[in-house]
Amino acid sequence: MGTAVTTKYPTAELPYPEDAPVSQALFDRAQAIVPGGVNSPVRAFRAVGGTPRFMASGSGPWLTDVDGRRYVDLVCSWGPLIHGHAHPEIIEAVQRVAALGTSFGTPTAGEVDLAEEIVRRTSIDEVRLVNSGTEATMTAIRLARGFTGRSKIVKFAGCYHGHVDALLAAAGSGVATLGLPDSPGVTGATAAETVVLPYNDVSAVESIFAEQGAEIAAIITEAAPGNMGVVTPRDGFNQALAEIAHRHGALLIVDEVMTGFRVSAGGWSGLHPVDADLFTFGKVMGGGLPAAAFGGRREIMSRLAPAGPVYQAGTLSGNPLACAAGLASLRLADKATYQRLDELADTIGGLCSDALSAAGVTHRLQYAGNMFSIFFTENEVVDYDSAKTQNAGAFKAFFHTMLANGVYLPPSAFESWFVSTAIDDAALEQIAAAAPLAARAAAGA
Ligand SMILES: *Cc1c(COP(=O)(O)O)cnc(C)c1O
Repeated sequence: MGTAVTTKYPTAELPYPEDAPVSQALFDRAQAIVPGGVNSPVRAFRAVGGTPRFMASGSGPWLTDVDGRRYVDLVCSWGPLIHGHAHPEIIEAVQRVAALGTSFGTPTAGEVDLAEEIVRRTSIDEVRLVNSGTEATMTAIRLARGFTGRSKIVKFAGCYHGHVDALLAAAGSGVATLGLPDSPGVTGATAAETVVLPYNDVSAVESIFAEQGAEIAAIITEAAPGNMGVVTPRDGFNQALAEIAHRHGALLIVDEVMTGFRVSAGGWSGLHPVDADLFTFGKVMGGGLPAAAFGGRREIMSRLAPAGPVYQAGTLSGNPLACAAGLASLRLADKATYQRLDELADTIGGLCSDALSAAGVTHRLQYAGNMFSIFFTENEVVDYDSAKTQNAGAFKAFFHTMLANGVYLPPSAFESWFVSTAIDDAALEQIAAAAPLAARAAAGA
C-alpha cells in the first residue's frame, strides 16, 4: 500500500544523523518484495553498509532524500545528468512531447533528430537506438558475430558492459562490489566463448590473437574504463586494439556508454580518435530517460534487420520522451559545457585529494577526462588487479562522512564520480567543508 511520503524542506543541521528513518521504512517494504530491496545492485549500499537513501527530488546540483536531507550529487544518475537535475529545458522538452502521446510503435521525427545528432558528433555512419547500454553491447556483440561468422569475444577484466551473459566475466563495479567473479546462470558454453584479459596489456592481446585469432569475432573495451574506478587507457592502447583486431579479421567494439557525450562532444573517441568498427552509447544520450544506441561502419550496420539478417528489435526503442530528453540534453552540451565539466572535475577531485593528503591518507586521484575517482591505495591503478589493492575500509569511512555532511558519492570504491554543470558555489562550499572531515575519518579507518 502506498504510504504518502512527505518531504520536509532541508532544514537539518549538518552532520545528518546516521539513521535515515523514512528511507529505512521504504527499504524494509522493498526488501520484502524486491530482491535485496533494489532494482540495480549497487543502489543497496552493500559495499559501504547502512541505509540506502531513497531520493524524493533533484534540482540542479542537489538531491533531496525522503528524510528531507539535501546532498550535493556526485553520482548524477551514474553519469547521464551532465546538466544537473530537472534542467528546465529538458523538463520542458519532455513535457511538450509527453502531451502529444508517449509511444506510437511507429517511426517518429525525434528518433531521426537524435540519430542525426549522434552521427554528427561521432565517426559512425549509421546508428540504431535501443533502451539500455546492456542492449547496445549485447547487439553489438551479435552483430560482430554475424558479420565475421566467428564466435569468441575478448574483453578486459574490470570493464563492465552491462549484464549481457557473454560479458559478465570479471565485470568490475557491481560485480566487484558483490565479490562475485562472474554470475551463476551464465552457462559454461557462454563463458567459454569469452576471453578475459588484463586491461592495458597489449602483449596479452597479441598472444591470444596469435593462438586463437581465427575464432575471435571482436574485442570489446570501455573507451576509458569507469567501472573499476577510473583507469586511463595507456597512450595508443585503444588504437593498438583496433590494429590487432583488424590484422586478424576481427572487429573492435568501443563501449562509450559511460564516456560518450560526457567527456567531450564526441566522447572519449572525440578526444582520442580510434578506428573502431562499432561504438555503443547510453547514459548522457538519454538525458536521464532510458535511451542507448550502437553504431558504426555502414558495411556492418547494414547487416542489421530489416536491412540485413542480424535480428534486433524493441517495442519502446526510440521512445519519444527519451529522444526528446536526450536531444535537449545533447543540444545544451556545447563547448562551454565540456570546459565547465572539466574545471569542476579538477576542482572537486583536487580538493578531496588535498584533504586526504593533509590527513595523511594514502590515495590516488585518477581522471579520464571529467570522470574521476579516488583509489585508497598507493599503487598506480592501471588494471583490475591494481584497483583491487584498495583499502575498502578507508573508502567506507570517507563515504559515510561525506554523506553525513551532505555530499552524495557513489556507494562503492569501484565507481567513477560524476559532475554536472549545475554545481555552483554553494555546492562547492559544501564539498569543501565535508572533505577534510571525511579525510580524517578515512585516516582513522
Ligand atoms: C552503464 C554501462 C553499461 C550498461 O548500461 P545500462 O544502461 O545500465 O544497461 C554498459 N557499458 C558501460 C561502459 C557502462 O558504463
